Amino acid sequence: MILAINGGAKLRTTPFPAYNTIGSEEEEAVLRVLRSGKLSTYLGTWHDDFYGGPEVRALEKEWCDYFGVKHAISVNSATSGLYAAVGACGISPGDEVIVSAYTMSASATAALLYGAIPIFADIEEEYYCLDVKSIEAKITAKTKAIIVVDIFGQPYDAPAINALAKKYNLYVIEDAAQAPGAMLGNTFAGTLGDIGIYSLNYHKHIHSGEGGIIVTNDDALAHKLRLIRNHAEAVLSAKGIANKSELINMVGFNYRMTEIEAAIARCQLKKLPDLLTQRLANTEYLNQKLAKIPCILATKIRPNAKHAFYVHPLQFHAKIAGMHRNRFIDAVKAELPPTLLREESTVLLSYGYVKPLYLQPLYQERIAFGRDGYPFTLSDVTYPKGLCPVTEDMHYNRLITHEFMRPGMTQNDMDDVVRAFVKVWENREELL
Ligand SMILES: *Cc1c(COP(=O)(O)O)cnc(C)c1O
Repeated sequence: MILAINGGAKLRTTPFPAYNTIGSEEEEAVLRVLRSGKLSTYLGTWHDDFYGGPEVRALEKEWCDYFGVKHAISVNSATSGLYAAVGACGISPGDEVIVSAYTMSASATAALLYGAIPIFADIEEEYYCLDVKSIEAKITAKTKAIIVVDIFGQPYDAPAINALAKKYNLYVIEDAAQAPGAMLGNTFAGTLGDIGIYSLNYHKHIHSGEGGIIVTNDDALAHKLRLIRNHAEAVLSAKGIANKSELINMVGFNYRMTEIEAAIARCQLKKLPDLLTQRLANTEYLNQKLAKIPCILATKIRPNAKHAFYVHPLQFHAKIAGMHRNRFIDAVKAELPPTLLREESTVLLSYGYVKPLYLQPLYQERIAFGRDGYPFTLSDVTYPKGLCPVTEDMHYNRLITHEFMRPGMTQNDMDDVVRAFVKVWENREELL
């Protein structure tokens, strides 16, 4: 059989079904808000409307109940949520914040926004989250916080990293954008650190187009987060301050979510348990079938954890395959069609995830804000290639990620994915 990459027929040409969680519930919710005429009731001053309108408040209450957390603060994106979290922790120019090298770029730019220096630590080989040993090796007198990421939907190593943070008096900010509903023991990802952040952007498990939710059990942090969300400086001027230190990082933003997005997010939250059940069942099916191929290693799940599988990570064994990962994956992709609503991404199968963050020009050239490169002007730290060897090896050689486990994929669809991998494995001589 001739592989599609060599001019043979594709194994499948009919596009895979879309992942679309939006239905009549969301339609009705949006109409309800439109008909009310109140698309947002926020006021950036010290007033009851400082806390937003009825949909925003209902969403926050429902989020608290679902995730078992004291405060939920809705914002217009997880990026805004990460920025607010760093601000609320009082991070100051020249401070160091330890961040994963393997994550979405905003997990690290959050530190830069407050003049702090991102210090990249390496990831675990099995779970791809921050490695506690690598974190400890990077702690200095300037370190103030760790931004952990529940990458791909798996909770970070909370027992070890939280203990380390306690020992060195550091905040733990948990980027749970990819892990709504994941758990460690009985605790939800997002509520394992001091502050957690979820995303409601279009590509996430549940979404409102754009949006984010910050959670914390700490009253003082929650207060600051709400101020940063909504013009802190103007609100404090009306509310008054007891102590100058209350002004730290209280230059506010407009990170407010509208009533329409909140109404949609409320419907989406109700759908989360079912969506997760399907996602987990699909991943389990694919994981078992794909790991039968000798050059594919199945996903490992942290003991005591429940994974939410934003993407399904697999590892590639180049020695067994006799070729580099990219050659093999290109051949599998050639066999498969795009997914509806995601045509721009071609086939939802990738080598690795995003490039290790420190290899972005921002860090290589050390230019963030202004002509002189602030805040790198405050630090000698550099970001050489090889800084995080596990991250680089995973990204450039070993990791495979795909999204074929998203609800909406039938068993037939998933079997086609498996057949494409098997076809390439069985005809691998054609690629050598
Ligand atoms: C999607 C994502 C974000 C950003 O979310 P937005 O809501 O788009 O701002 C941050 N961190 C991680 C790990 C993400 O996957």
